[in-house]
Amino acid sequence: ALRTVPNFDRIGEENAFAVLARATALMRQGKDVINLGIGQPDFATPANITEAAIKAIRDGHHGYTPANGILPLREAVAADLDRRFKVSVSPEEVMIVPGGKVTMFMAILMFGEPGAEILYPDPGFPIYRSMIEYTGATPIPVPIREENGFAFSADELLSLITPATRLVIVNSPANPTGGVTPKAEIDKLVKGLEKWPDVAIMSDEIYDQMIYDGEEHVCLLSYPSIRDRTILLNGWSKTYAMTGWRLGYSIWPGKLYEYARKLAVNSFSCVNAPSQFAALEALTGPQDEVKRMVAEFDSRRKLVVDGLNKLPGVSCIVPKGAFYAFPNIKETKWKAKPLASALLEDAGVATIGGPDFGVFGEGYIRLSYANSAENILKALDRMKNFLERRN
Ligand code: PLP
Repeated sequence: ALRTVPNFDRIGEENAFAVLARATALMRQGKDVINLGIGQPDFATPANITEAAIKAIRDGHHGYTPANGILPLREAVAADLDRRFKVSVSPEEVMIVPGGKVTMFMAILMFGEPGAEILYPDPGFPIYRSMIEYTGATPIPVPIREENGFAFSADELLSLITPATRLVIVNSPANPTGGVTPKAEIDKLVKGLEKWPDVAIMSDEIYDQMIYDGEEHVCLLSYPSIRDRTILLNGWSKTYAMTGWRLGYSIWPGKLYEYARKLAVNSFSCVNAPSQFAALEALTGPQDEVKRMVAEFDSRRKLVVDGLNKLPGVSCIVPKGAFYAFPNIKETKWKAKPLASALLEDAGVATIGGPDFGVFGEGYIRLSYANSAENILKALDRMKNFLERRN
């Protein structure tokens, strides 16, 4: 028999892809399915961006680029962070990667090994835990609680740090809850981390522009006391509706940058060249489309929350960020995963069970409101009908 390394028996995945496959299969059989499962904008990439990629292809950008990305793009990322958050970043700290996911993959590889502990949000993006397990490190879930508005609690997080902790992962605005952690809480976290100088931080800020109700995003790089051990994960997928382009960027402090660059050389070499030109246009061109998409998400957010709160046994707090609602279903007779599955098979609405995001996700399901208002209303109606019939 083949003898593969044991690490692969521990690697997990993202159930959202399985739900998408099942929803697609049902649609192929002629079933009418509304997909509120997938975490990607339903908008097309803005035309100025797609045109820039087409132009790059016509202009002959067909070869390898530097492994860390083309310089104008790294400069544009630095300028964008300066413009939006007044954080000073050198283009030499910016690494262009094929998707936000690749940053977390690299960071967890750098710090994960047997005996190391890595803290991550639960419920949270499932790949954090999967990759931690892959490396043999011990995953330490940081509970994300509804009573906290799905913000992380700095005190609770800090109480979980031990001398074995090597990396702390935080995510705000958050998937799957839509939670936004207030600045005061982040200040408190940073103060506490000052007492643990050997702990690295990876801040997943991929939803930084999907933020509502006048909340302001706080970039972790703006804290000088932890700047030399903070890794920033960000990218284009959500903000510019570019999930399929496979684009992201990370900021790596100190020697981590060289590690990341070498990992790129050892694996993907560089992000495909036309996508990098598209990314450059995204950052340097007009931002009206971003504003339009965010305003549209905001109005759907209200529809979803209102609708969910009218369902029997369901309650939903108002999410302040991302494009997800994470309703509490504890007053129905259902557990989260069977409910998500019955909603798909019986009611034709794809959602994701909270436990797919961690053990603290039981009692919740995730709905993505990256779908039209019309479909959202129809889905809510189907859910209401379902819960009245089968609760
Ligand atoms: N981080 C979080 C919290 C996400 O929800 C996602 C995508 O769903 C990613 C990172 C990865 O994004 P990308 O498609 O750029 O790899």
